[in-house]
Amino acid sequence: MKARGFGMPRFKNKYRMRSFVFPQLNKNPITEEAIKLPGLKEVKWRMSRPIPDGFVPKQARIVRKASGYFVMLSLQLDGLAPNPLPHGHPRGLDLGYDFFVATSDGEEIKRPRFLKTLQRKLKLLQRRLRNKQKSSHNRRKLNQKIARFHQRISDTRKDWHFKLAHHLCDDAGMIFVEDINFVSWARGILSKHSADAGFGQFVNILEWVCWKTDTYFAKVDKNGTCQTCPNCGVHTGKKELEIRIHNCPECGYTTTRDVAAAQEIRNRGIYALLA
Ligand SMILES: [Zn+2]
Repeated sequence: MKARGFGMPRFKNKYRMRSFVFPQLNKNPITEEAIKLPGLKEVKWRMSRPIPDGFVPKQARIVRKASGYFVMLSLQLDGLAPNPLPHGHPRGLDLGYDFFVATSDGEEIKRPRFLKTLQRKLKLLQRRLRNKQKSSHNRRKLNQKIARFHQRISDTRKDWHFKLAHHLCDDAGMIFVEDINFVSWARGILSKHSADAGFGQFVNILEWVCWKTDTYFAKVDKNGTCQTCPNCGVHTGKKELEIRIHNCPECGYTTTRDVAAAQEIRNRGIYALLA
């Protein structure tokens, strides 16, 4: 589709991916051949996937990628979608920088090396941009290359998030995560790292995969999860970030800081269910 004219979303940087949301849609906004967006004429499109039975489009996000314009529809089940009930093995997750995720079962998962490698390559390309003359042909080519690279990184990351979410749901009946506002968190201390780590996207994907795999999903209060011993419940006081080991002065329980936090998150999730 072509985004031109009055009232159309504007995209700041013509090379980077930009998106724009239509939070509400008209009644029956789509057909096989075209989509009708509020305030706009019908736009021809190619539907890449059919809409599953029983779902209705609720929102449309127009995304410009390096390879063209895309419409991403948020679908909602017409009627109530049953949420999985708590059952089976409970698993708490702690998201962090050292390890992308630590589980209450003692697993610690780093973000994959291939993502780091891609990110390093991107940095190099961006540095090369500085030596290119403004509005030169070479600069434009390099910009397109960078845009495609951004796209590749985000696709790769998303793919990994899906695989990880499935892995974490495997043999668990309940998943508990911290209730973190990732936007403000990303602006805070961990800004440089968590911004590219995409925790917010991961939690959204995880919630969806839980729903798909009949795994109960809940968020718990994050306050002081690393100040409580998951084994005996004693308050162990504030730990500096450098301290990576949990060693309880009361009961002697020892594990890594992240696993202890994940276990405390699991405990809180279970308590919330019993309350
Ligand atoms: Zn203890």
